[in-house]
Amino acid sequence: MRQKLAAGNWKMNGTLADLDEVETLLTDHPDPASEMLLCLPATLIHSAAQRFGNRPIAFGGQDCRAEDSGAFTGDISAPMLADAGASHVILGHSERRTGYDEHNTLVRAKARAAMNAGLVAIICVGESLEDREAENTLDLIAGQMSGSIPDTATGENLVLAYEPIWAIGTGLTPTMDQIAEVHDYMRERLERRFGAGVGRSVRLLYGGSVKPSNAAEIFDVPNVDGALVGGASLKAADFGGILAALDASPAEGG
Ligand code: PEP
Repeated sequence: MRQKLAAGNWKMNGTLADLDEVETLLTDHPDPASEMLLCLPATLIHSAAQRFGNRPIAFGGQDCRAEDSGAFTGDISAPMLADAGASHVILGHSERRTGYDEHNTLVRAKARAAMNAGLVAIICVGESLEDREAENTLDLIAGQMSGSIPDTATGENLVLAYEPIWAIGTGLTPTMDQIAEVHDYMRERLERRFGAGVGRSVRLLYGGSVKPSNAAEIFDVPNVDGALVGGASLKAADFGGILAALDASPAEGG
């Protein structure tokens, strides 16, 4: 049975004072059925882990370096994130794939480093609007999955997030049939590569303009095990609404 996961990505937003939103979230949802995770700016992870360490929420980073240490000014390694109190890290987000030219091989190396440090790697895949219009979506997802996911992936150290680039921060979302097609395809590919046991245990998140008003129908789609949420994760009321919809959704996404 895959536990549902509501994951937020604060991106480059938030200072110490904003951790009060986490307090509000936990006050409103003290005992969620789903796993709750916020991937914070690296500067907040240690404080959040200290303040909310015994509460039902986990914290993660938004990227890491593939190397564990060295002369890489400004970068953060997976062991450093773990040391700060992170349990997860987002890798291969489209804002990094496009903005920093991160390719599949690099994402795979980062994921390997994350897994070696005991972190769960949340690997993002997703097509551009051009790819979708050219009907390249599934081929692109296949390439990103085989290129970015290490052979050592398991249901415990990997979460896979489908994030169509054109849906991120735009208010646009795919149709439920489009989400179902991609999630079924990802599940099938995982099962083919890793076997049914591992393939069925990896959680698949949908990400891209998820909000309280559309969350329930997205979580009804089979093989959607939760969401990766950007903008709507910044406010406790919005993220809490999404969490409530996830808690109420059918087991294992339908
Ligand atoms: C994201 O950036 O991962 C994301 C899903 O953003 P938003 O929810 O704001 O579309």
